[in-house]
Amino acid sequence: MDSDLKFHNMKITSNITSNMTSNIISLKEAAIHLSSKIQSYGILLVLQEPNLQILQASENTWDVFGITAEDIIKCDLEAIFDPYQMEKIKFWLSEGNLDLINPTKVWVKQNGDDYVVFDAVFHRNKEGFLILELEPALSQDNIPFLTFYNLASAAIHRLQNSRKNANLSQVIVEEVRKITGFDRVMLYKFDENNHGCVIAEEKREDLESYLGLKYPESDIPLPARKLFLENSIRVIPDRNNQAINIFPKLNPVSGKAINLTNSILRSPAPCHIEYLQNMGVGASLTISLIKDKKLWGLIACHHEKAKYVSYEMRKACEFLGRIIFAEISAKEEIEDYDYQVKLKNIQTTLVEYIATETNFIDSLTQHQSNLLDLTNAQGAAIYFNGQFTLIGQTPPEEEVIFLVEWLQNNLQDETFSTNCLPDIYPDAIGFKNVASGLLAIAISQRNYVLWFRPEVVQTVNWGGNPQEAFSLERSERNFRLCPRKSFTLWKQTVQLTSLPWQNAEIKSALELKKVLVNIVLKQADELAELAEKLTRSNVELKKFAYVASHDLQEPLNQVANYLQLLEMDYQSQLDEDAKEFIGYAVEGVNLMQTLIDDILAYSKVDKLAIAFQLTDVEIALEKAVNNLQPRIKETKAIITHDPLPKVMADSIQLMQLFQNLIGNGIKFHSEKPPEIHISVERLADEWLFSVQDNGIGIDSKFSDRIFVIFQRLHTRNEYPGTGMGLAICKKIVESHHGKVWVESQLNQGSTFYFTIPIHCSSRI
Ligand code: ADP
Repeated sequence: MDSDLKFHNMKITSNITSNMTSNIISLKEAAIHLSSKIQSYGILLVLQEPNLQILQASENTWDVFGITAEDIIKCDLEAIFDPYQMEKIKFWLSEGNLDLINPTKVWVKQNGDDYVVFDAVFHRNKEGFLILELEPALSQDNIPFLTFYNLASAAIHRLQNSRKNANLSQVIVEEVRKITGFDRVMLYKFDENNHGCVIAEEKREDLESYLGLKYPESDIPLPARKLFLENSIRVIPDRNNQAINIFPKLNPVSGKAINLTNSILRSPAPCHIEYLQNMGVGASLTISLIKDKKLWGLIACHHEKAKYVSYEMRKACEFLGRIIFAEISAKEEIEDYDYQVKLKNIQTTLVEYIATETNFIDSLTQHQSNLLDLTNAQGAAIYFNGQFTLIGQTPPEEEVIFLVEWLQNNLQDETFSTNCLPDIYPDAIGFKNVASGLLAIAISQRNYVLWFRPEVVQTVNWGGNPQEAFSLERSERNFRLCPRKSFTLWKQTVQLTSLPWQNAEIKSALELKKVLVNIVLKQADELAELAEKLTRSNVELKKFAYVASHDLQEPLNQVANYLQLLEMDYQSQLDEDAKEFIGYAVEGVNLMQTLIDDILAYSKVDKLAIAFQLTDVEIALEKAVNNLQPRIKETKAIITHDPLPKVMADSIQLMQLFQNLIGNGIKFHSEKPPEIHISVERLADEWLFSVQDNGIGIDSKFSDRIFVIFQRLHTRNEYPGTGMGLAICKKIVESHHGKVWVESQLNQGSTFYFTIPIHCSSRI
């Protein structure tokens, strides 16, 4: 519903200083339950058990008992009631459950033989004092149960006969009005911001309707709310009733003002009286509706004139209200439950997709039932391993990137949700049409799923301008909180706000988080396994290289030596064919030697064995060029370079890298003499080097393949080589935490790029 409406530019009052603001807060949290006044239509006595000694009394005892409060507090209760009544009262009190005896009819003798009947209501307050409140009884008979029963059962009967899909909220107000005869009975429901909305109303025809109007939180301040939670019926029979003091003001035993939280007679706060006056209400009865220990709403009864409602009638209303409310609340729960089941089904379907498919991102986005249905969102984004996948209506990817960065600092709990993102993330104003609402979960420290909801502009009908919900008036020494005077319809347009995320939706996102976290953990496990396998194969490769360099070297040398001997010693006896075959064998041996050398060179490039040091790239390049001198001369190659920086690297490997890349540039030259240029560019946190040649170029479809070991695009007859050179380059660059790639086209020359992080060693 309208639970999370946002009030733009809504300030309590624009011109109050912070000092005044703190006053407001203290006023809003005033200890109204410690008020030491009561409404004059009844009498209140504070008693101490077990001897029922009167500790405090309202100052109107003279009117009923003919004894002043000062005198009455010197007595026990026995001084007021005759022994017969006292006996009964003492018996009931000893029973423990005071609900069973409330109200009790008591007779007080007045003027000769005249008796006045009161409803006596007992309760024990939090400090353990017994509080007796006497209200004038409207009926003389002590049959509360029957009266109560008749009232409630007639109403319940009517309820049972009412239409099946009747609006139960309306039924409540109609029945309560029928029983009590109040001019207006309303059902208020509170939203998450504690603003109340009139969802049902039954009233005198000539009165203006309040149905559908919203009332700001401040209309029922926090202390009053707390009292409504504890004491579910509040009655003010006459707004103009003069408040009566309790004597003495402080309880003589505790030394403190008496706690009247559960008192019926407790005088309303002056601010509340004023509020009723401003609303034109002479009497009120309020019944709290509580769900999950929270104030769900109120049944508020208003009467223009003073109106007394008997204890039985109040209880009947409360009972009735509760019964019908139980139905409303069950209906809400069923609706909620149905929605939860629907979301759960979607969740199960998605989990099934995830379980049977390899790519969980596709599972969440490529089917008819998808990520959006899980939270009823219009757009969603998955940010996983540096990649974005967007679905539905979302902000542009670059905006989502910034949003994810912002989330990294702001997502502290398991989920993050807001239905007014622009309020906390002002850039969202730019994409309010798709993302005024955001719900996000973190799958890991860097991976997120985000859901978006568009702005929904709403009009709210306030019962009076909420910005003027109360004002401050300066009294002699302090500020005084005054309720507003105007209740005329005040329309507000609420913008930059989406529909709120419901609990069921947030829960559903959380469930998905659990599934995805498991996938990420599984992937991390798989990666760890892969890394272990790689380490193992690296070790094996090293072993092989060792064997190749030592054990294979010897027989290979042997073959080479004997071939030489054969050639030299049997020269005269060999015919041309035999000489040619020996030539092939020598070539084979040489190739094998090169292969062994290259494998050895490859196996030696090891991340862990890299000797990082500040290396002058120009020197490394110079050495590589020196090593290539014979081929440079032979091909008349021209090697040029930009000024090169110093980097954190292994100087020998860097030299090897240049040697391989420049060597290839020379080897794979076109008809023109090779021209090779080395340049460098500084990026945000890495150096980007390039080695550009004017050679034969590479078909772009092979640009990945050439970095794989033994992969060549030409035969050895065309160009000599083992296909290990670029594989070694790749290993060197990756061991330096960089990347290597080629950009080329056939006959257009090639440019090999590689990066070296600026703070390379720190990443190890
Ligand atoms: P080798 O040079 O021993 O063949 P490399 O691993 O260095 O092995 O290169 C793999 C293949 O990539 C080469 O056989 C060649 O086809 C292609 N190649 C490498 N560098 C160049 C270049 N600068 N120009 C054109 N082709 C190249």
